[in-house]
Amino acid sequence: MRKLAAGNWKMNGMSVDLAEIAKLIDAHPAPDCDMLICPPTTLLSRMAERAAGSALQIGGQDCHAAGNGAHTGDISPAMLKDAGASHVILGHSERRADHGETDASVQAKAAAAQAIGLVAIVCVGETEAQRDAGTTLAVIGSQLAGSLPATLATVPDALVVAYEPVWAIGTGRTPTLDEIAEVHSFIRDTLVKRYGAAAQEMRLLYGGSVKASNAAAIFALPHVNGALVGGASLKCADFAPIVTALAAS
Ligand code: PEP
Repeated sequence: MRKLAAGNWKMNGMSVDLAEIAKLIDAHPAPDCDMLICPPTTLLSRMAERAAGSALQIGGQDCHAAGNGAHTGDISPAMLKDAGASHVILGHSERRADHGETDASVQAKAAAAQAIGLVAIVCVGETEAQRDAGTTLAVIGSQLAGSLPATLATVPDALVVAYEPVWAIGTGRTPTLDEIAEVHSFIRDTLVKRYGAAAQEMRLLYGGSVKASNAAAIFALPHVNGALVGGASLKCADFAPIVTALAAS
């Protein structure tokens, strides 16, 4: 399986920051893993134009489940694809919290993204209170059951699950390596039960305060097939070493 280093720029990035993309492409002309940046929509098509012909892939941070229509401010999967995206992040905890996204809405978006040929990166993760209460695996199991599309549409590569403990996002804190391994192994088992043996080939990403200094240890864990990176994806100097660590893992 080809591993995936994915960067989520969130609501960060101006025209001037496209220079970081040029540096990233120079730093990794042919990495031994997939390399993805998901910029804000305002930069998406310009970033895709700069990345054309390079190893860098571009993704959206959300999409609507409908193909078109009266949905002010929303973007359809086809629009993302038309702008040059190959992937889309769905159900990020910030969207679940800020925009009331539910498992059902994430599932509908994931199905719509798959139908148009976008790789859907579906995010799941427990809050700190849920971890403290010992319900992490129950929470993740329920999010997987409700958020993932009913079938693996085409190939296992087209659906990615990102495990992102909410309390580890942007905080500098991470679960222990054992805790990450436990959840990833649970996710793999759950996916195999749901989709069959093909799910062994699905990429499972860890996300939450990944940086150059902890990347190699996390990537050495079983069933960790890449990372979804927020803060450390904004600058090439921070993200390029993470791509290097993943390619070497
Ligand atoms: C994220 O937003 O998906 C994320 C993992 O952020 P950070 O790397 O900044 O914790």
